[in-house]
Amino acid sequence: MVSIDEEQCTGCGECAEACPVDLLSLTGEKAEVTGDATECLGCESCVAVCPSGAVTVREL
Ligand code: SF4
Ligand code: SF4
Repeated sequence: MVSIDEEQCTGCGECAEACPVDLLSLTGEKAEVTGDATECLGCESCVAVCPSGAVTVREL
């Protein structure tokens, strides 16, 4: 389960680029979970690339 803290997100788009199953997109100036969050692989690629620590992944 992935979530994005809008307050911390700078809208760089790195997480959207990194996600292998395209769950994340930039909407306006913030990233959002736009895919089916239950398809998250838990790979944490999005966490690794986020420069502002805005992405968290936890087990459902
Ligand atoms: S943990 Fe992996 S699959 Fe899940 S949203 Fe992040 S990059 Fe995508
Ligand atoms: S990588 Fe982090 S700061 Fe950049 S768009 Fe994604 S959540 Fe926002």
